[in-house]
Amino acid sequence: MQTNNLWVYEIIEALKKLGGQASLIDLYNMVEESGNTDFSKYIDWKSQIRKNIYIHSSNADIFKYTVGGEMDLFYSIDGKGKGIWGLRNFERNTPNDNTTQTVEKKRNPAWKRDELILALDLYFRHNPNHISSKHEEVVKLGKLLNSLPIHGNQANANFRNPNGVYMKMCNFLRFDPNYKGKGLERGSKLEEEVWDKFYNDKNKLHNIAQSIISSVNYEKEEVSKSISIDEEEEFPEGKVLYRLHKQRERNSNVVKKKKQIAIEENKLKCEICKFDFFKTYGDLGEGFIECHHTIPVSNYKENTKTKLNDLVLVCSNCHRMLHRKRPWLSKEQLQDLLNSN
Ligand SMILES: [Zn+2]
Ligand SMILES: [Zn+2]
Repeated sequence: MQTNNLWVYEIIEALKKLGGQASLIDLYNMVEESGNTDFSKYIDWKSQIRKNIYIHSSNADIFKYTVGGEMDLFYSIDGKGKGIWGLRNFERNTPNDNTTQTVEKKRNPAWKRDELILALDLYFRHNPNHISSKHEEVVKLGKLLNSLPIHGNQANANFRNPNGVYMKMCNFLRFDPNYKGKGLERGSKLEEEVWDKFYNDKNKLHNIAQSIISSVNYEKEEVSKSISIDEEEEFPEGKVLYRLHKQRERNSNVVKKKKQIAIEENKLKCEICKFDFFKTYGDLGEGFIECHHTIPVSNYKENTKTKLNDLVLVCSNCHRMLHRKRPWLSKEQLQDLLNSN
């Protein structure tokens, strides 16, 4: 878009830097930071920004161009009064011919369940209508998300920056019955799932969020061997805590000791259904059993040691069944189920 209007140019550039959508407060800050404008000429330069957005948005009353046309540059997220604006055709307006910018422009990966849990937990503590992306907790969450082992290499300067975190919080507005507006229309199915799951259980959500946060400090071990991609995607507490759970069930000395005792007592079979891998599979199944760590992942605290009594030896089927429900079924409950069917 070619324009002689400096304000429009500044607004477009600021929106691009902010990922295509932003609150007015962030727009003001970004335009101010760019240092291109001499604000001393204006009594109220912020109103210039608002006016120029309204003139160039078919969502505003004073728009006088063609809807969807070249001059229809901005769209309102959730109606004019809410102060959140997006740049139409953000992708098209974003040049990708500049190689020095390719790293920055790389699309950020979609938000995973863990990340949404953390964003929703923050949402319930600070409604996005009352804070901006400059809020210290928003900034802090952005940093934390950058340190979580969820997406592999996150070499992208924009990855979960404060504005991205803030916009994600705004995405939840559309589900909130206490919110009068319409909310962002775009959003993922997973957002809805996470909202539905935790809207009536904010304490649980907060516990899980805290467990994820404290997991950043755990020592990470290689657990990829025991990871089931299906199960990981469905795990209601997200990938980080799923992996941590798997790690606790596989690698610790307590797990080895638990198995060793069972071997010595000739009891290496599923404690629930009595399945014996050696009996069924012969040599292939010798010494094989899975271990389930019974402490709920939402109660994970830093530096808690696994105790022998926290572990149950299970076959793979029973293990999956134990993971399926929240709160987790106990060994006895699953046994009862098995017997009653
Ligand atoms: Zn079993
Ligand atoms: Zn388990």
